[in-house]
Amino acid sequence: MTMRLKARILMTEFVTHDVKRFILTKPKGFKFVPGQGALMAINKAGLRDEGHPFTPTSLPDDPVIEFTIKGYARRHGLTEKLHRLAPGDVLLITEVFGDIRWKGPGVFVAAGAGITPFVAILRQLRKAGKLAGNTLIFSNKTWDDIILERELRDSLGPQCIFVLTREKRAGYQSGRIDQRFLREKIRSFKGHFYVCGPMPFIEDVNGMLLQLGATQDKLVYDGP
Ligand SMILES: Cc1cc2nc3c(=O)[nH]c(=O)nc-3n(C[C@H](O)[C@H](O)[C@H](O)COP(=O)(O)OP(=O)(O)OC[C@H]3O[C@@H](n4cnc5c(N)ncnc54)[C@H](O)[C@@H]3O)c2cc1C
Repeated sequence: MTMRLKARILMTEFVTHDVKRFILTKPKGFKFVPGQGALMAINKAGLRDEGHPFTPTSLPDDPVIEFTIKGYARRHGLTEKLHRLAPGDVLLITEVFGDIRWKGPGVFVAAGAGITPFVAILRQLRKAGKLAGNTLIFSNKTWDDIILERELRDSLGPQCIFVLTREKRAGYQSGRIDQRFLREKIRSFKGHFYVCGPMPFIEDVNGMLLQLGATQDKLVYDGP
């Protein structure tokens, strides 16, 4: 879908030390399926063609759009500039794309900002009363990095498993997600698996899931 939709920032706030939520006006004609990404640029001279992918965490019927964006200040790239924007600034949405979408109950496996497509999907399932039968495994470096922990726990209860790779903390799993961990936490490998995070994470997790009995047609992820 080629387009150039203008969305004005209504508010921003930090949800973790380096992740901000952006509430934007919803331009006419903006349509997406929860889980899909959108190419976004800043409507300022020299930046209009620098579109990067982000995922709406709001629902298609919401009157505004929400994005939840991790800033990489040290990279001096687009997310640093996005984090400096203020209400009134305008973003350009040029494309909606991506294969992540709800296909049936299963296990969501996310790392860091890779949670964003699942936030939208889980909000959609909650609204429809269809959260039962889903599990979330969410990996972060430390407790401070977890995005929307309260909401996720409130939605999924004990079916929400948080993993911390660089911190030990009571009530949280520690270490990296490996085959033993997945075998321990996942009852059946017959359902859908939704995987999102940095590309090496997606490749590792998909590889382990396939070895444990998941089938390729049940893996839902964005990748090459
Ligand atoms: C389909 C899709 C949807 C996405 N949705 C979201 C979303 O909803 N929210 C979100 O926060 N992000 C999302 N992302 C990721 C987001 O697009 C990138 O984080 C963003 O484009 C980074 O832009 P940048 O110019 O600030 O940083 P870049 O210069 O592009 O660098 C950021 C990247 O560099 C890596 N990096 C950081 N430090 C270093 C270093 N010292 N050396 C080498 N590499 C380093 C980071 O891991 C990160 O991947 C999505 C990505 C895809 C593909």
